[in-house]
Amino acid sequence: MINSKKIVFIGLGIMGKPMAKNLIKAGYDLVVFDLNKKAVEELVNAGASEGLSSKDVAQRTQIIITMLPNSPQVKDVMLGSDSVIEGANPGSIVIDMSSIAPLASKEVYEKLNEKGVFMLDAPVSGGEPKAVDGTLAIMVGGAAEIYDQVKDILLKMGSTAVLVGDIGSGNVTKLANQIIVALNIAAMSEAFVLATKAGVDPEKVFNAIRGGLAGSTVLNAKMPLVLKGNFKPGFRIELHIKDLMNAMDTAHEIGTPLPLTSSVLEIMQALKVDGKEKDDHGGLIQFYEKLSGVEVRKREV
Ligand code: NAD
Repeated sequence: MINSKKIVFIGLGIMGKPMAKNLIKAGYDLVVFDLNKKAVEELVNAGASEGLSSKDVAQRTQIIITMLPNSPQVKDVMLGSDSVIEGANPGSIVIDMSSIAPLASKEVYEKLNEKGVFMLDAPVSGGEPKAVDGTLAIMVGGAAEIYDQVKDILLKMGSTAVLVGDIGSGNVTKLANQIIVALNIAAMSEAFVLATKAGVDPEKVFNAIRGGLAGSTVLNAKMPLVLKGNFKPGFRIELHIKDLMNAMDTAHEIGTPLPLTSSVLEIMQALKVDGKEKDDHGGLIQFYEKLSGVEVRKREV
């Protein structure tokens, strides 16, 4: 049985930082690494120890959690120079919580496995607020006996951690999640620009429809921010582009057309050209606002 009290955490960005802090609060002994020294300093002030590299931190424990932007960064941290594969002890468990291409998860898993290191892919949904609250929805791919050993750790960061299948299944599930979120934001944007241009107060429209069938978690999370014109991330448009590109690549490999996803991906690409790729994905509404010449904002009383 592995020592599950000491955990390594690599990738302390918008999501990783609060997730790592929740593990410290839950009594785990954390060793952290990130290229961003300020993020590491913040975690050290919260009680973590600092590591020198991915290889260095991997040597120090048997549970290694990563929360990185995309497949290239995960491959670099796991398999590059000074990486996890060079440091990890046989029998260790790697939990990659980044949202990456399912095929990349399988590739990293196979290389780690050759060294006797186990891996789960365990991407999350819920964004920064749920990362802070420890109430993320976690979707896990991998072997049941490995999942059973770390489930309690996952539940310190999320309110659910569902094992959905073999390695890569977590990221397939996350792609499905990201399609639903992106299409919801696009539908919300189209609808509220129409209502506003037709002269109806968008805040009243929101209050009128949120309890009905059109109501959703996306609507409740994003409309209050849109009404304030607050597009501070949150989840950046550039990261959602990454997820939808991974969805399109996966869909093309298996022969599944995604007509609506490809349209929303192009809307996001247009926003990127407009310099808005660092905005929250709720900022997608700006594409529709520009087309119609209105802004969906709270009215002065
Ligand atoms: P982020 O860009 O804020 O953080 C990524 C962190 O990884 C940064 O601190 C960066 O310095 C670090 N990093 C990058 N390359 C590294 C390397 N080689 N070695 C060490 N550290 C490295 O991203 P985020 O918003 O925290 O997202 C992380 C993952 O979670 C992404 O896959 C994203 O799609 C997913 N996600 C994000 C949200 C959200 O709302 N932000 C929600 C759900 C899932």
